[in-house]
Parts: sequence; C-alpha cells; structure tokens
Amino acid sequence: MTDGAAGGGAQERVAIVTGGARGIGAAIARRLAAQGRAVAVVDLDEASTAETVQAVRDAGGRATGIGADVSRTEDVEAAVARTADELGAPTILVNNAGILRDNLLFKMTDDDWDAVVAVHLRGAFLMSRAVQRHQVEAGWGRIVSLSSTSALGNRGQANYAAVKAGLQGFTKTLAIELGRYGVTANAIAPGFIATDMLRATAARMKVSYEDFLAGAAKEIPVARVGQPEDVAAAAAFFTSDEAAFVSGQVLYVAGGPKA
Ligand code: NAP
Repeated sequence: MTDGAAGGGAQERVAIVTGGARGIGAAIARRLAAQGRAVAVVDLDEASTAETVQAVRDAGGRATGIGADVSRTEDVEAAVARTADELGAPTILVNNAGILRDNLLFKMTDDDWDAVVAVHLRGAFLMSRAVQRHQVEAGWGRIVSLSSTSALGNRGQANYAAVKAGLQGFTKTLAIELGRYGVTANAIAPGFIATDMLRATAARMKVSYEDFLAGAAKEIPVARVGQPEDVAAAAAFFTSDEAAFVSGQVLYVAGGPKA
C-alpha cells in the first residue's frame, strides 16, 4: 500500500519520526518511507540518524536527519522548520523518542522523574504543538504517540507508567481538538519489543539479553517477543490516508490482550 507517493501525481506527505535513529523509531521511519512519505529522522545526535536516512534513500525514498532534543523548545521549533525547508511542510508526526530511568519509588530520584517526564510528555507536547500549525494549514494531519503496556502499571516504572498513561490522555485530547482540521491522533502501546531499550533493562536486571527475551516470550500469548516492525505496521495504518475516521484510539501491540 502506498499513500501519497512521490511522483505519479499524488501529493507526497512529509513525516517526522522522533527517536528515529534506532529501534522502533527507525523501523517506523523505514515503513513510512515505503508508503511514499518523505521522512525527517529526528534524534538527539544528528550523526546517529545516518543509518536510518541511508536505508530510506537506498530504498528510493527521501529522508533527512536532524539532531534535536525533543524536550527543548528551541530544538523542536528548529527541527520542524528545517523539515519544512528540506522536505516540505510536515503533516505526519510520530512521537517515539523515549528514555527509561527505572527505579522503585523509594529509590527514584527527582532527576529520574524529571528526565522521563521531559522526554516523553514535554517532548510530545512541544512536537505536536509545532507540527499542528502545518497540519491545520494543510487541513490534514496524523499524530501517533508511543504509549506502552506500562501505562497499566509496572513495578519500578512509576515515572514511565505515568508518562505513558499521560500520553493516552494527551492523544485523546488532540483527537478532540484537531479533528475538525482533518487531523487524527492515536497512540500505540507496545508490549515487549526487542530493542536496545530492553537490552539496557536486561543488563540492569543482571540477566543475559537472550534469557530476558526467552523469559518474556513465555508470558506472551503469541509465544514470541515483538519486533520493531510489528509496531511500525500499526504506525503505517494510523498515518495512512484511509485511517481518517480512526482517532483518539490506543492500540495495544503486545501479542495478546491488554486493558
Ligand atoms: P530506543 O531503542 O532506546 O530508541 C529511542 C531513541 O530515542 C534513541 O535513538 C534515543 O537517542 C532517542 N531519544 C532519547 N531521548 C531523546 C530526546 N530527548 N530527543 C530526541 N531523541 C531522543 O527505544 P525503543 O525501544 O525503540 O522505544 C521507542 C519508543 O517506544 C519509546 O517511546 C518507548 O518508550 C516506547 N516503547 C518501547 C517498548 C519496547 O519494548 N522497546 C515498549 C513500549 C513502548 P539516544 O540513543 O541518543 O539516547
């Protein structure tokens, strides 16, 4: 399926994927490009985006890499302006950048709390506020934010669970405010997806990454852990032209039911 492909008369739409250098964000960037979107790959360090940008270009797509910290207003405004200059006005936004600062509540520091709130919640707010200007002007837009099954509560993740639940309320509010401008907002809540983020968790728990994955798979109804591409498929749907009547939803991509 190709939506808004370059050439062929169809309008090419421009997407921003934050945290697109690796993991889930890189898979989403590649998948959206395969759907004919031009993609700005935004990550903390511009150099780290090179691999994703090259993968898109090798597949015949248009991409640019931009270094920005999504929790900083100036960085966000500059990243969105640069996207508009280099690729065209962005009307698709995937709020994917994320960090973990896990700790049990009694050991969680102020910094652990503030850092997670800044990247996930403030980051999604700043990016969405900057991109909606272009979306409203175009009368079309898609915002997808990465929540998590941790939104339902997870030991050692009071900060992360709070922001991932917060992103669900944020998403539903954007859906209500922006719907009249042709803009939808949805959230994807992945379960256990094999990325560097969980490699770090395994290291912290002092188990090998392979044992960590095998242990997690035993608890998942489809009997495997998720891959970044599993999440990218959901992002492809939510950002497609044909998903225009689907808004304010939270889709659990977790290999089994969650509620
Ligand atoms: P990842 O492999 O750690 O990738 C996250 C990316 O975000 C990294 O490239 C990171 O850059 C970047 N980033 C961090 N802080 C940033 C900031 N302030 N500004 C811009 N970019 C920033 O993580 P992932 O597993 O792909 O996760 C992606 C998203 O899915 C996150 O929101 C995560 O919470 C969510 N999620 C993941 C899972 C899972 O099982 N993996 C499950 C549920 C939800 P650096 O490398 O430079 O730090």
